[in-house]
Amino acid sequence: MHEWALAEAVIETAIEESRKGGLEEISEITVQIGELQQIELEVFQFALDEIAKAHDEDSLLTNAKMRLETERAIFKCRVCGTEWDYRDTCVNEDEGEAIHFAPEVAHVYVRCPSCKSPDFEVIQGRGVLLKAIKGKR
Ligand SMILES: [Zn+2]
Repeated sequence: MHEWALAEAVIETAIEESRKGGLEEISEITVQIGELQQIELEVFQFALDEIAKAHDEDSLLTNAKMRLETERAIFKCRVCGTEWDYRDTCVNEDEGEAIHFAPEVAHVYVRCPSCKSPDFEVIQGRGVLLKAIKGKR
């Protein structure tokens, strides 16, 4: 159910930011989701739409479209500094799924493509971010 909590947070932030920016109507909300984030996109999209309706007291969100963007996961080796996309490394399908659904498993499977070190950090591809709000003043 954390999709609903995340959607609630996104909508609340969007309302707050729109008021600060003096928007009377939001036309589009862009949300960026890291591909390592454990989230069901369909559930999240549905939750966003439902919560937007529930928070629509002053018609701010009546015509708001929810756009979801995926952010690719990028790893960086702590030993040699190489940055890479996990899809470029040779993980098989099953392991790829495992990484997608459980980011902590990434450390078991992922190795730096240059020096084979398992010591890396995730520099991109986690979390949910309210990226942009479009609307009318
Ligand atoms: Zn390396």
